[in-house]
Amino acid sequence: MIINLPTQESLNNVALKTYYRAWDDLLIVFSEFYLMFSESKTIAGAREMYSIEWVDYVDNTQADLQSVCSLLQQSMELALKARVCGISPYLLLLNNGMKLSTTSKMVDFSVLRTLDATDLPGAVNTLTNEPLSDDFIGRYTKLRSLRNRITHLGEAGVKLDPDDMVRLALSLYIDIWPNRQWLPDRLDFASQTRHAWFYDGKYASTHMEVIQEWNFCIQIFTKGEFKSLIGHPKTERRFRCHHCVYEGDTRYAGFDDLDIGTAYLNKDKCSVTCVLCKGTFQVEQKKCPTCKGTIIGAADDDFKGYCHTCGTDTLDEQFNT
Ligand SMILES: [Zn+2]
Ligand SMILES: [Zn+2]
Repeated sequence: MIINLPTQESLNNVALKTYYRAWDDLLIVFSEFYLMFSESKTIAGAREMYSIEWVDYVDNTQADLQSVCSLLQQSMELALKARVCGISPYLLLLNNGMKLSTTSKMVDFSVLRTLDATDLPGAVNTLTNEPLSDDFIGRYTKLRSLRNRITHLGEAGVKLDPDDMVRLALSLYIDIWPNRQWLPDRLDFASQTRHAWFYDGKYASTHMEVIQEWNFCIQIFTKGEFKSLIGHPKTERRFRCHHCVYEGDTRYAGFDDLDIGTAYLNKDKCSVTCVLCKGTFQVEQKKCPTCKGTIIGAADDDFKGYCHTCGTDTLDEQFNT
């Protein structure tokens, strides 16, 4: 009897955890360069202003990008296995040459050989009703070949470009997890990292980390990626979510200088919905005394009267005497 069978959910969770580990390492390549040359205000500005340094810097990021490649490949392999496992975990043992025996004994699933990475796209398209696109299979094959070269030769044999890696990483997520939501996933998996273990909610928190990163993501995502990952056009106006800002505005947050809007005004114009915490909060249209914003919190919570543009408490005495 085979024991400790994996589930679709367990495999998919590890796939996502590995994916965001890769994403974290990839984004650091951009954010650390920007933070060193932050007078330009944007990542693109820093790269333009220090273009010679950027080229030199990219040479020194190769080991990091190779590690990102390996993590992405591992993540995609697990995500594909999760899809096959959704039909039956035993299908992962196809073609593994397992010897059958009349002597009954327990065998742990983890010691058995599962489908090869190279067979996984075919297994998904043959066995499941969620076929992979040709584009995804092309990207997966390219990634697998890069990872093999890194594993066997110690390097990819080509210079990896951070921008290409971002496009690749985001398109993989969009293809393999079309029904998931990027920011809630980011928050969920950021709370399961080594860093998160240290977060005390006073000096740092998972919300702080994700909202700081969001400021960079807004700059890095293309319009198409933004729409696919966030569900809104990149140009649509965003508002503060008071709940998420409250959770993230710790001692090290530095939110004043960041683009931290994660909420969108709903069609009824009476509420906003946050794409990070997924909460919907009632609002009213009223002029803010300290900015040009007109969307003010009207929910029966701690943020009633707070401006969704600048965060001012419009019910404060100083504005109401
Ligand atoms: Zn929120
Ligand atoms: Zn305001």
